[in-house]
Amino acid sequence: MPRKHNPFDNFKAVLDKAAELLGLSQNDYIILKHPERSLRVSLPIRMDNGEVRVFEGFRVQHSSSRGPCKGGIRYHQDVDEDEVKALAAWMTMKCAVVNIPYGGAKGGIQVDPRQLSKGELERLTRRFVAMIMPIIGPERDIPAPDVNTTPEIMGWIMDTYSMQKGYAVPGVVTGKPIEVGGSLGRGEATGRGVMLCARMLMEKLGRSLEGVTVAVQGMGNVGSVAAYLLHREGAKVVAVSDVSGGIYSESGLPMEALRPHFAARKTLAELPDGDFVRIGNEELLTCGAEILVPAALENTISKSNAGNVRARFIIEGANGPITPAADEILEANGVTVVPDILANAGGVVVSYFEWVQNLQSFRWEEDYVNDMLERTMRHAFDEVWALAAEKRASLRMGAYMSALKRVVGAKKLRGIFP
Ligand code: NAD
Repeated sequence: MPRKHNPFDNFKAVLDKAAELLGLSQNDYIILKHPERSLRVSLPIRMDNGEVRVFEGFRVQHSSSRGPCKGGIRYHQDVDEDEVKALAAWMTMKCAVVNIPYGGAKGGIQVDPRQLSKGELERLTRRFVAMIMPIIGPERDIPAPDVNTTPEIMGWIMDTYSMQKGYAVPGVVTGKPIEVGGSLGRGEATGRGVMLCARMLMEKLGRSLEGVTVAVQGMGNVGSVAAYLLHREGAKVVAVSDVSGGIYSESGLPMEALRPHFAARKTLAELPDGDFVRIGNEELLTCGAEILVPAALENTISKSNAGNVRARFIIEGANGPITPAADEILEANGVTVVPDILANAGGVVVSYFEWVQNLQSFRWEEDYVNDMLERTMRHAFDEVWALAAEKRASLRMGAYMSALKRVVGAKKLRGIFP
């Protein structure tokens, strides 16, 4: 069934707006409306009960103008080609905003991984790697984790690729366990970047995070770390949620006590009752916290609920959580949005550091990784802020303009082959 909001159409709509602000012609950027390469694969897997099931997988390379393609792999029952195309395109823009030398890609398998045993999941992953092997590699396209994929899965990807090559190739994938070439700080990097964006936004407004109320939707890798680090910065996390629902406490949730629960990747439904009330995901969006961090999936804030959002600031932890129509409503209501391609770029920045360490066979200290991440994010945030101010546009437009300048600039310098 076609999606209600096609995320690739959303991407193109935002791209056109930013290009217009920059005075670009279609000739300058039309190629960005078409992914460079898209591979669709069928993955036959022998299930534990002897049955053979065939899953569908995708790897889309959107642009390699600024360097090798880079982007995560998602395991979700709703994955389709349009979603993967959009996610790949956002990666092109994200890598350009933070000025790391990569293009954009993304992959996905249409599967609900909760229905698979660990053995089935491993076989599915290894078969997927074998099928996309001709187009990935440390100089071509470097996968990483995304929704429902973990460091352990990245380890299987590294091993499968390496076994085919006949030698260890840690630089083929990032987000790996530390023992097989992962980087210190990578696990927390996306959530840390979200926290840094919230902090920098407050600084620009002459404020700090101390006592600011926060609500976070999605308690996965991104959301749980962002919530915890925002709490550590002095913010008051009043609501969090995951696919099973949410919890709310006006006086602030006990983040230290909740942290091990999220680290064990347990859902909020499995959390024993405590000093909080249970709420639904829609209630979380309208709970009145000053900062809202959507960190689950695309399109959770749409035309139907954007008008009810009471937050003053939104930091997009997820990719594409706000539809373009909702964006207009939020802007009209004076809500400041730090866009996904900037707000959740911390993950790909430290993935880049991991790849650099792998290529150099060298290890960086965690403090150094975090320090370099902060510098990179601060530089990008300042550029986006200044561009948005110059063109009297939103931060989303600022981020897209910043990215477009770099991508289009690289394309012009390289020219069109042949
Ligand atoms: P994850 O699988 O670790 O967590 C996803 C979380 O969202 C889970 O808590 C899940 O229960 C929750 N969720 C799913 N559907 C929901 C719904 N309908 N309502 C509320 N909660 C729901 O995934 P993640 O890696 O944290 O990724 C989350 C988002 O961040 C995605 O949009 C992803 O593309 C983006 N992102 C991830 C990274 C990364 O490094 N992992 C980097 C950049 C962007």
